[in-house]
Amino acid sequence: MASKPEIIFQGSGVSPGVVLGQALKLDSHNRAILRIHVDDAEAEARRFLRAIEASKEQLEALKSRLEEKVGSEHSIILDAHLLMLEDRTLNEEILTNIREGHANAEWVLTQTTERLVRAYESLDDEYFRERHSDIENIAERILLNLSGDRPFSWDSLPGDLIIVSHDFNPSTFAVMDVQKVRGLVLESGGRTSHTAIISRGLRIPAVMGIREILDSVVTGDRLLLNGDDGQVVVNPSEARIESMRGQMEAFGSSAEYASSQTAWTAQIKNGSPVSLRANTELLHELSAAKKCGAEGIGMFRSEFLFFGHPQGFPSTEEQYSAYRKLVQEMNPYPVAIRTLDAGSEKVFKNDYLANQANPSMGLRGIRLSLRAKKVFSEQIEAILRASCDGKMEMVLPMVSTVEEIWQTKTLIEKVRADLLRIPGVKLDPVPLGVMIEVPAAVLSLEVLAKEVDFLCVGTNDLIQYMLAVDRGNPHVAYLFQPLHPAVLQCLKHISEVANKLNKPARICGEISSNPFVAVLLMGMGFRQLSMNPLSIPMIRRVLHEIPLDSAQEIAGKVLTLATAHEIGKYLTEAVSRLLKIDLAPYVREITDKMTNYE
Ligand code: PEP
Ligand code: MG
Repeated sequence: MASKPEIIFQGSGVSPGVVLGQALKLDSHNRAILRIHVDDAEAEARRFLRAIEASKEQLEALKSRLEEKVGSEHSIILDAHLLMLEDRTLNEEILTNIREGHANAEWVLTQTTERLVRAYESLDDEYFRERHSDIENIAERILLNLSGDRPFSWDSLPGDLIIVSHDFNPSTFAVMDVQKVRGLVLESGGRTSHTAIISRGLRIPAVMGIREILDSVVTGDRLLLNGDDGQVVVNPSEARIESMRGQMEAFGSSAEYASSQTAWTAQIKNGSPVSLRANTELLHELSAAKKCGAEGIGMFRSEFLFFGHPQGFPSTEEQYSAYRKLVQEMNPYPVAIRTLDAGSEKVFKNDYLANQANPSMGLRGIRLSLRAKKVFSEQIEAILRASCDGKMEMVLPMVSTVEEIWQTKTLIEKVRADLLRIPGVKLDPVPLGVMIEVPAAVLSLEVLAKEVDFLCVGTNDLIQYMLAVDRGNPHVAYLFQPLHPAVLQCLKHISEVANKLNKPARICGEISSNPFVAVLLMGMGFRQLSMNPLSIPMIRRVLHEIPLDSAQEIAGKVLTLATAHEIGKYLTEAVSRLLKIDLAPYVREITDKMTNYE
């Protein structure tokens, strides 16, 4: 059989590493439709016909409801859908392919509709070109009726998958078998989207922002993914694979390299100790955090216990056991549980929140928790109860007013008092922190800081809100500039206020894991960073080589420069001059991904 031609795509590498694997295409609902061999093809054909019947009944019912409300002239679209369901030629083709290929109905249906959609999309006539969405609509309905009796399972999948999808809800990480996923390729997304952050945490190489790759890939195609330079090759030639072999092997062993760099205590040369903690989302990242020498968890994104939960959200007991495991495993180091930061991505099943027009500015984080007080009280209870098992901290996300802290403190006191009424219950104090990630919080920092024990600076969101740039939108990714002078002024202000009030301030956004920025942050006066666990050894090593007074000098100069590009260039050169180790790969990272406004 002739081999398929190579196709090369360029996107942006958001999680490093080079891997080879086979494509698993997900649809717009993050489902994978796979080809499964069915022994009894007749039974499969009947299953397909039952799904068609069920779809017809639903459409008929929908049609009469619509006619009652708005009259029959508006239900014409549903007539067209019903006609498509009854299209004999199409149904016969699908049935023949099921019978002859012994293939599952979902697979045959999606293959057939994808072909039809492509044909419609290629038409000149605009009216007919638009009809492809009707076909997708109908296919979706049939699929939903099919999937009821055969839910998707990861068990039968091979272990070298590269997921290819338009977007990828981070909640899918919580339900998928991550051991089987080698890489991730998305048409959408950006470097600080949660999907990118978690990919880095799980060491899954990822490329995002590749337009229209879905049309050129089918599940099972071989893919060569380079998370460093953002290139994805579909059906790579043997020669190309050979030429990348070295990089693939280097990625395989880099985890061991990283974990062997933990010998020094973290400190900036000639300066005070530095605390390097890990950001985590899933419990099984704990071992990476410990291996890489994290001195605690700086921020546990607790929404990942909620994502994809079969009951909608976890019980108090489930949360208690997760938090207890976290503090026990990390003891004697502290663990900061960030309370539910839901809303910007879908968390709850049957979620009315899913329909917010602008979710990242909507009912998310502390706003949602204070609205859903029962769920919030349960989370607080679980955190307080686990406080005796180690060193526990609590952090509140998306705070924009001091009233939100007051209300939360009142709730914490109530939950604490209720628990203490139970005979035998003992609770330890739990320091309270606030995420500084909204410009209003930066400008009212003194007021907020006085109410809490420590600050966590969420630069991912702070950059997004400060610069009015959606962190997940590839069209404006060039404006997502962590080194924008306005962002750096915010950081300087935070450091000054925190030091004046003697409140520890921990940088928790993705910038912490960039070695150049880490030096800049030290120069500005920060002494606590929390990051993807795998970056900790590198950051520890870099800080060890940079004298504090040089870092301060660099920070002073940076604050006088006018553009992110100039700042990035100066910072990279100044830090590189002081280092004995080669940070060449990061040089590209900082210039390409942090200051890419040219
Ligand atoms: C941030 O906003 O920088 C942060 C640390 O939180 P998240 O990425 O979960 O929004
Ligand atoms: Mg945030």
